[in-house]
Amino acid sequence: MSDATSRPPLQRPAWIEINESALRQNHALIAQEKNASVGIAAVLKDNAYGHGAFLSAQIAAEFGVKFLVLVTLTEALDLRLAGVTTPMLLLGQRQPDEIASCVEHRLTCCVNDIGLVDQLGAEAQRQNRVVPVHLKINTGMNRYGIRWDEAPALIEKILAHPFLELEGVMSHFSMSDELDKSFAHFQLSNFRTVLDWLALRQIQVRYRHHCNSGGFLDLPEAHFDLVRIGLLPLGIYPSTVVRRIHGLEPVMTVKTKVALLQNLTSGDSVGYGMRYTASCPRRIAVLPLGYGDGFPRVRNEGHVLIRGKKAPLVGGVSMDAITVDVTDIHDIQLWDEVVIMGRQGQVEISVHDLAALRHSVSYDQLCAWRNRLPRIIVNSEPRTATHGSNSDPL
Ligand SMILES: *Cc1c(COP(=O)(O)O)cnc(C)c1O
Repeated sequence: MSDATSRPPLQRPAWIEINESALRQNHALIAQEKNASVGIAAVLKDNAYGHGAFLSAQIAAEFGVKFLVLVTLTEALDLRLAGVTTPMLLLGQRQPDEIASCVEHRLTCCVNDIGLVDQLGAEAQRQNRVVPVHLKINTGMNRYGIRWDEAPALIEKILAHPFLELEGVMSHFSMSDELDKSFAHFQLSNFRTVLDWLALRQIQVRYRHHCNSGGFLDLPEAHFDLVRIGLLPLGIYPSTVVRRIHGLEPVMTVKTKVALLQNLTSGDSVGYGMRYTASCPRRIAVLPLGYGDGFPRVRNEGHVLIRGKKAPLVGGVSMDAITVDVTDIHDIQLWDEVVIMGRQGQVEISVHDLAALRHSVSYDQLCAWRNRLPRIIVNSEPRTATHGSNSDPL
C-alpha cells in the first residue's frame, strides 16, 4: 500500500490556486445585487477563463444559474461527459457538421442567420425534438448577430418552423464597462426596437438578454430576464470605472517558490541578452516559472511577492524562469513561497498589474495561464450528494 510507486507524482513548484469559497461567496454577493426575476447565465468559455470549467459549472449549478455559456462544441461536450446536466448556451456560430451533436446533447445555439435556422430546423425535425434557439441581434458591435432592422424577418422564419422554439433574443455590449455609456445606450435602443416589434405581435420570448459583467454592474435597465456574466464571479472587475460590489474577492492566485539564490557583484549581468547589469552587489532569486506558463515576456518590469514584500523583476523573462532582486528581503530562504498573482500579507499583485505588463486586459492574462501550471482547489467545502450538478450523464 505505502510503497513508493503508489505515491502521486510530485507537483512542480509553480501552480494556480482556485479559491472555491471565494467563488461561492462571489456568486452569493452577485445574486443579492439583482432583481429576483433576473436569471444568471454563467459564462464558462475557455475553461472558465482559466479557472476550471468543471468546478465553476458545479458551483454555478448550486446557485441555480439558468445556463452555462460556452463557445466551442468541445467545451460543452466535455462538461456533458463529466455529468453536468445544466442547460448550456453556445455562443458564436456553428458550422454545419456540429449541429447534430448540439441537438443530441441539448446544447442551445445562438443563431445569426437563415442558414443556421434552416439547418437546425431540419436536424430538429430529423431527431423529432423541438429545439430552442436564441436569436443574436447585432445592435452595433458588428461581430455576431443579425442586424436589428433585419431581425423581424428572421424571427418570422423561426416562429414558422414547427420544430424550433424562439426561447431567447440577445445582444452584446461593446462598451459597457467605460464611463461613457452613450454607445451602450445606442445599442440598447436598437435592441428595444426588436423587443417592441415582438410586443406588438404579442410574441413571448422567455429570455431577453444583453448584459455582460460591465452591463450587469452599470446598466440595470438592461438586465431584462437574464445576464451573462463571466469575469465578475471570478472576483475581477472588467474595468477600473465600473461600480464595485463590496466583498468580491479574486478566485485565482498564481504561486511559485524560490528555486535558487545568486549573489551578484558589481558589473554582473542577468539572463538572455544581458538586459540587466548590477551596479553594486545584489542578491537574485530564480523562480521556476516563465512565459511558457503565461507570465508576460517583459524585461526589468513587474514584481512578485516574497515574505510580504515586493521584489522587482530583473533581466528578461525566460520560457521557464524569472529572476527577481531580493537584496532587501534579508530573511529569504530557499523554497520560500512566492506570489506571482494575488495577495500575500498586506501586498497584492492584481491581474490588472500583470495585464498592464502585456499591454492588455485582465481577461487576456487570466486565459494566458497555461495548463502546465497545475490547478489546485483550496478552501473547498466537503461535497454532499445535493451539491453541484448531479452525476447521471446525459
Ligand atoms: C464573454 C462574453 C460574455 C461575458 O462577459 P464578461 O465581461 O466576462 O462578463 C457575455 N456575452 C458574450 C456574448 C460573451 O462573448
